[in-house]
Amino acid sequence: MIFTKASTTQYDYDLVVIGGGSGGLAAAKEAAQLGKKVALFDYVNPSPMGTTWGLGGTCVNVGCIPKKLMHRASILGEELHDAKTFGWEIPEKATHNWETMKNAIQDHIGALNWGYRVQLRDKKVNYVNAYAEIVNQHTIRGTRKNKTETCMSAEHIIIATGERPRYLDIPGSQEYTITSDDLFSLPYCPGKTLCVGASYVSLECAGFLAGIGLDTTVMVRSILLRGFDQQCAEIVGGYMEKHGVKFIRGAVPTKIEEIESGQPGRYRVTSKKNDGTEIVDEYNTILVAVGRDPCTQNIGIENVQVQLHEKSNRVIVDAEERTNISNIYAIGDIGEGRPELTPVAIQAGKLLARRLFQRGFTAKVDYANIATTVFTPIEYGCIGFSEEAAIQKFGEANIEVYHSYFMPLEWTVPHREENTCYAKIICNKLDKERVVGFHVVGPNAGEITQGYAIAMRKGATKEDFDSTIGIHPTCSETFTTLQVTKRSGASAEVTGC
Ligand SMILES: Cc1cc2nc3c(=O)[nH]c(=O)nc-3n(C[C@H](O)[C@H](O)[C@H](O)COP(=O)(O)OP(=O)(O)OC[C@H]3O[C@@H](n4cnc5c(N)ncnc54)[C@H](O)[C@@H]3O)c2cc1C
Repeated sequence: MIFTKASTTQYDYDLVVIGGGSGGLAAAKEAAQLGKKVALFDYVNPSPMGTTWGLGGTCVNVGCIPKKLMHRASILGEELHDAKTFGWEIPEKATHNWETMKNAIQDHIGALNWGYRVQLRDKKVNYVNAYAEIVNQHTIRGTRKNKTETCMSAEHIIIATGERPRYLDIPGSQEYTITSDDLFSLPYCPGKTLCVGASYVSLECAGFLAGIGLDTTVMVRSILLRGFDQQCAEIVGGYMEKHGVKFIRGAVPTKIEEIESGQPGRYRVTSKKNDGTEIVDEYNTILVAVGRDPCTQNIGIENVQVQLHEKSNRVIVDAEERTNISNIYAIGDIGEGRPELTPVAIQAGKLLARRLFQRGFTAKVDYANIATTVFTPIEYGCIGFSEEAAIQKFGEANIEVYHSYFMPLEWTVPHREENTCYAKIICNKLDKERVVGFHVVGPNAGEITQGYAIAMRKGATKEDFDSTIGIHPTCSETFTTLQVTKRSGASAEVTGC
């Protein structure tokens, strides 16, 4: 049901959204669908290397979409080797062309950018390609590329400005390194690449670069995939290492110097190991993926005193995405403590618009048990607690961990390595062995994990998993036959299918 508040007439818009990424677009489209007058600002500040992109935000342009497609390019390369064992006659040395891949992916992204513009136009959302700042509680000013300004008032304001990659604070970082903002549209093949950081972005990029045949090294300060289950993170790292990615553990870069400019150029990277020793090596490309900072500076937040988290600079929001200012909301990556994932931002935007403009609508985002997947050469999907977090929350004695390695049938003919793919569930013994953590490392983990997220939302227990009949022969059926507990110390390894 749609309703209009009489007060809206005093403002130019019922809603102004700052940021046309996953969250902002979802909120703007939903509000317009509910009959509201909506404007959306989106503006991309070029990266230090000068890279810029179109409407749609991080996911579409420099995140999920290009990275999954490059992951696909790399998987195809690996499957070429498998294909030979299944009878395909393929030339001994298949080569990969970066430019062909990059252009095809950028063409797809261009179509998505256009699609978003059309959707906004069809829904009568006023899309303004300008950098927005909050002037006061109800006024937003936009500055276009040509420096012309536009000002408008709104009853409600949603901030959805997302995040941008952090650079290293060392000599040469801004001049000679790139980030994920640049990689996916890089006009030339990056060549020998150093990926700095052990974030999922770093490991995913390293994975597909190695997969398409590039000499790739990951430099890790401490642990892989902080916040994820560490046993699974190590399985992912081990697989990558076996498949051509080099790892330098316990080290950080201290200086980057240009040896030769070019496309790609040549750079000398000096690094320091934890034990104080220095390492020097040369690379064509240095990709920095050491975290992302929220875009909450220079957007006029101080003009209205929206409260930011003192350490992270993310916006402090309540369960309904409200800031401390009654008509200003924040969604997506900039929300303190929010999972930084596209579907989360979309759901937050959609439900917020409905709560604002649909009479009687009160549903909030349920931030528990959100599934996610790391698209490394061997994928890693998870839901809920890592083993470490479950032990901390419930106590070691109160959880039961069931686990098993598994061998995808597809891997048998090409004689891929056994006991690499892994399935694990963590159950709360105090609550009928309810499954509180789900982890799978293997091919297509993203596809496997999604369905289990529904089961976990519905409170599935170990007994529910056991009484579910599997689909044979699949990887996912492993979860219906898990018997070995970690506590038992019995082997979780398997032979055959
Ligand atoms: C390499 C990489 C891979 C990823 N892979 C995945 C994945 O596989 N799955 C997944 O779920 N998530 C993934 N993510 C995360 C996902 O992209 C983000 O969670 C999601 O885009 C967040 O949406 P958002 O709306 O908060 O912000 P964004 O999508 O970042 O959108 C913010 C928009 O606001 C604009 N903006 C900023 N300031 C202003 C201003 N003042 N005025 C106007 N416009 C402004 C920005 O330019 C941008 O267009 C990935 C991220 C990266 C970097």
